Amino acid sequence: MRQSKLFTSTRRNAPKDEVVRNAELLIRGGFIHKEMAGVYSYLPLGLRVLHKIEQIIREEMDAVGGQEVRMATLHPSDNWKKTGGWSSVDVLFKIQSRTEKEYALGSSEEEIVTPIAQEYIGSYKDLPLAVYQIEQKYRDELRAKSGIMRGREFGMKDMYSFHADQKDFERFYETVKQAYFKVFERCGLDAKVTEASGGAFSNKLSYEFMVLTDAGEDDILYCGQCTHCVNVEVAKHAAGDTCPKCGKGKLKKARAAEVGNVFDLGQRYPKSFGFTFKDKDGKDKTPVMGCYGIGTTRLMGTIVEVLSDDKGIVWPATVAPFSVHLVAIAGGNADVTAEADRVYELLCENGIPALYDDRDERAGAKFADADLIGIPKRLVVSEKTVSAGGIEVTDRSNGSSTLVADSAIVEHLRM
Ligand code: ATP
Ligand code: MG
Repeated sequence: MRQSKLFTSTRRNAPKDEVVRNAELLIRGGFIHKEMAGVYSYLPLGLRVLHKIEQIIREEMDAVGGQEVRMATLHPSDNWKKTGGWSSVDVLFKIQSRTEKEYALGSSEEEIVTPIAQEYIGSYKDLPLAVYQIEQKYRDELRAKSGIMRGREFGMKDMYSFHADQKDFERFYETVKQAYFKVFERCGLDAKVTEASGGAFSNKLSYEFMVLTDAGEDDILYCGQCTHCVNVEVAKHAAGDTCPKCGKGKLKKARAAEVGNVFDLGQRYPKSFGFTFKDKDGKDKTPVMGCYGIGTTRLMGTIVEVLSDDKGIVWPATVAPFSVHLVAIAGGNADVTAEADRVYELLCENGIPALYDDRDERAGAKFADADLIGIPKRLVVSEKTVSAGGIEVTDRSNGSSTLVADSAIVEHLRM
């Protein structure tokens, strides 16, 4: 895409009330637009990143057998009254129609998915079932000061599974846990998994996936030598204690962001809706249910928090809005512009997603914008590179530069 055509531009300052880095950098880079506290619009660059994150998640959920759906976000209040959520879920946004009917805005989708599954599952042969969606959620959060990491409207992948018995649920639960590690790794993050109590949803065990960052809202204790990790809220230990799991490492305390979690919901929701199936012995049984969330927009914010430097964002290639930022430093020289145009066409022809800075701007401003936007590879075409017969390729993550002959550029970028 030609940057001269991109309707957004970078800005020097973020709104004064933005205190966290993810919001500051994403707003300054033109990725998102703030509507009010906890509510953001996603602009072309930001949407490209979000789509890539969603696609990684989609591939991993499909790989464990999840079937993608899109469920309603405007919910009938009756469903929430049946499960008790109407009076117990404090973050639920409730809407009153002019006809005096009441609705809820989806904060989670157990109330919708359970009756859907009930309609199609009659026998043990229909189980297990896992369905997921990637969609907006609405929550009346009291504080929304973490940029896109805590929204009142935000993106989530939510999957729900139904099983004939606890054993089958536990098998699937473990599979999803492994898929979650793949998702976070593909997004360039190192996630730890905590064991914690399931909070409002259930008193059974749940797992939370945590990424270390000061912008997070959770405190965790983790072992430096093994995978042991717990939320401080539920911990029986303290920082400096010997790890109760491996007995070797010392526990460290850190701030972390919960990017995802998996819950054992038991039979609570199926019971609320009178959902049973015929088991092998012909008897009516209630399915066991699990739910699995990933905050897609929180994940994007976490990537920015963890992978950025004093100049801007450093996107991992897997989620970057473009693979290449082609920067023309022409200074009025038509030959340089012609060469940069040619390189841009070459990239397009070869299917290499490129943002082409063809604007009439100073070199310094273009480089500062490229650093802020954080595309992994910067390609510079200037008088200097044209006379040397090449293109300067700079790596955003470590700043290293090389001159690559134009005939070899496509091959170089594919390496
Ligand atoms: P938290 O403790 O951070 O409020 P939660 O326990 O309420 O999270 P869930 O209801 O299980 O989270 O939602 C699943 C995932 O959605 C979370 O792991 C998190 O990544 C994300 N998430 C939850 N609330 C928000 C929010 N207000 N803004 C952005 N992402 C959120
Ligand atoms: Mg919450």
